[in-house]
This record gives sequence, C-alpha cells and structure tokens, in this order.
Amino acid sequence: MIFDKFKVFIPIILANLFLFYFLDTKEIILFFFFEILLILSFIYFIKKSEKSSIKKQTDKKENKDLTLSIYESFIDKLDNPIFIIGKDFKIISQNLKSQEIYEDQSSNDISTIIRDYDFIQNLDEYKKNNEFNRFTWSKNLPDRKIFNTEILNFSEFLIIIITDITNQKLIEEKQTIYLDDLTHELKTPLSTIIGYLETIDFNNYTIEENKNFLKIINSKTFEIKNLIDQILKLSETNIANKEILKINIQEILKSTIASYDNLFKKSGISFQIDIESANNKVTSFTSMELEVVINNLLSNALKYTPKGKTVSLKTKITSENDLSIIIQDQGIGIPQKDLSRLTERFFRVDQSRNNQTGGHGLGLTIANHILSKNGCVLEISSELGKGSIFKFNLKLS
Ligand code: ADP
Repeated sequence: MIFDKFKVFIPIILANLFLFYFLDTKEIILFFFFEILLILSFIYFIKKSEKSSIKKQTDKKENKDLTLSIYESFIDKLDNPIFIIGKDFKIISQNLKSQEIYEDQSSNDISTIIRDYDFIQNLDEYKKNNEFNRFTWSKNLPDRKIFNTEILNFSEFLIIIITDITNQKLIEEKQTIYLDDLTHELKTPLSTIIGYLETIDFNNYTIEENKNFLKIINSKTFEIKNLIDQILKLSETNIANKEILKINIQEILKSTIASYDNLFKKSGISFQIDIESANNKVTSFTSMELEVVINNLLSNALKYTPKGKTVSLKTKITSENDLSIIIQDQGIGIPQKDLSRLTERFFRVDQSRNNQTGGHGLGLTIANHILSKNGCVLEISSELGKGSIFKFNLKLS
C-alpha cells in the first residue's frame, strides 16, 4: 500500500541521480537534505489522511449503532411485534413484543421464523422488486388470524412491523353480513309490493280482489316501516349516549303493559301480572329504554304463544339490591341449539314461524343491547313446545 504511494518518487529520484552528475558534494548534501524534508512531510500527510478516513469510518459505524439503538428503544415501547433486519433479511434486533411471541431470533433469516406461506410469498415478492411495502397475510393454525405487515426501508436496515388485524377484519365481515341481511329484509317485502302493484287491474279483477291486493301492499309497507324503525332503534341504542335516570320500576312496568292487556285478550291468551314486589323500587336506567326491553319481550310472547295459553310478567326481589323481571310464556318454545344465537342481528329460529309472525330478528338484539349497556344480562331458557322464560336483574338504587 505504502509502496504504491512512493511510486510517485521514482522519476524524481532518477532525475536527482541525473542532476548529481552536474553538482558538487556540498550541493548534493544540501539537495538531499531538502528532499528528505519533502519525503518526511509527504509521509506525515499520508498518515494523517489515513487516520482521518479510519475515524470517518468508525464515526459512521457509531452513527449507525446510535440510530439503531434509538430505534430499538423506541420500538420496545410499541405493542406490535417489530423486527429490525439487515438488507440480507437476517434479524439484527427485535422489540420485546416480538421476543415474547417469536423468542429471541438474532441473526436468523426472518422467513425461517414467520413460516406462514402467505408471509413468505409476500416477502419474496418484496425481495425481488422492492415494490410494495405493505401486505396482508393470514395464518390458519391453531386459530385463524389475519395480519398486516409493513416494511419500512432505511439506508442500513429494514423495519418490519406486524399488526394483528383479525378483530378489525371480523368487524368488517360482520358489517358486510349485516348489510346483506338488511338488503334481503328490505327486498322481500318490496318485491311483494311491486308484484301486487303490477297485478292491480280494474279490468280483469273485481273490486274485492283489487282491494285485497291493496291490503297486502299496505301490510308489506308497514313491515318495511317497522323494519326501518327497528334499525333506527338499534343504531340509537348503539350510538346515542342516553341520560341515565332514576326510574320507578313499577310505574314503568304498569305504563308499558297497559296496552298489552287488550292485545292478549284479543288473541285469547291469559295475561298474568305480578309486580307487587316492584312497589316503590327504584333503579338507574337509560332514559325510556326499559320500556323498549319490556315491549320487545312482551310482543314476542304475544307472537309466539297460541290461543288458550298463558303469558306472565313477574318481578321478584332476589337479594337486598336486586330485583328480577321475568316474562314467561307457554308458547312454541325455542330449540336449545338456537338459544345462544337469539340476540344476533336478524337471527330467527326458522323461516316458517317468521312467515306467520313477520318478525325481522331484531327485537331481542335491541333488548340485549339496552340491557348490557345498563349492566344487566338477559337470561333465556326455553323448552320446545312448552314455552320460554326471559329474565334479567335490575340493581336497586
Ligand atoms: P323477531 O322480530 O323475529 O321476533 P326477535 O329478535 O325478537 O325477532 O326474536 C328472534 C327469534 O327468536 C324469533 O324469530 C323467534 O323465532 C324466537 N323467539 C323470540 N321470542 C320467542 C318466544 N317468546 N317464544 C318462541 N320463540 C321466540
């Protein structure tokens, strides 16, 4: 190396030798002296420049280490698993969350740690053309999970951030199912309305027949209105931050059930009420919503109980601070396998009973939403062909 730098002196030395031929001894010594001085200063400058280049390199390395350690301390505070990897895709560092999930994997290739097919495929794609830096992948075992991966490209290394988006995806899927169900619920009565509107014809049908068509159109229009009302109620219970009021339980029950006396009588169902234990009992509940719960439960009891049977509404003190409200019917009952699904949006036990009653499977969803918002749990028990019991506890104030 050093010899290379001295090569430059060879022609000068040769020129000196040529000059010596014309100079005397004194002049040669003086000349040598200057030349040695020149060489020493040259060596000095070479050494100095080498030192400064080594220093630059170590500074650069130190800077890189410093940047890395800043990132390391930052990513440790984040809740997602994060890897810092070299351009060769080997792990340089991991945050705490990633060590918790994948253990310490220093120096291993990232694709040997996350071995899911989707992830490796996407990573290979990235290695090939560096084109996209965000991809979604899923893993099916032991349970299905969906992840989002983001690759941040820095000059010395890459940062891989993995985010679990399973819940978000589930919500999106549920939203899509909800919209599909809603569209279906609206389309069914609408197609009936359209069908009968096209059928109405005063030339070919009698006035009586046409009147009958109009009756059907009328009832289907009400069905749609009823559905829209229920949807609005559901979103209201979800979104609106209703005021919590101290309410007199017995008064609320009395005013809500007043209109049902007549409806049960008309349907030939005996309606028994025992709400004595609720006398002067007060609870905190979201404004006007206990009425909605009782309404939905009683209207179901009315819909699903045949003539000649009994429906009852009772209150019972279950502890010093608890009062239960129990609505029991001797109706058609609900199969055990469906009990846990009753509070799902648009869930109905079977289509045939729905055709007769015209329900949309939202009443219990709304009731359950309101109750859980108020810290209550709706308990449902039922026996097919014998009847059902709907029960919840109110905390007394
Ligand atoms: P719907 O408007 O269809 O009645 P709900 O959410 O109130 O919707 O009820 C969901 C389903 O649960 C109903 O379709 C019905 O099959 C069943 N169900 C609810 N209450 C009763 C009951 N008291 N007796 C029998 N089945 C019931």
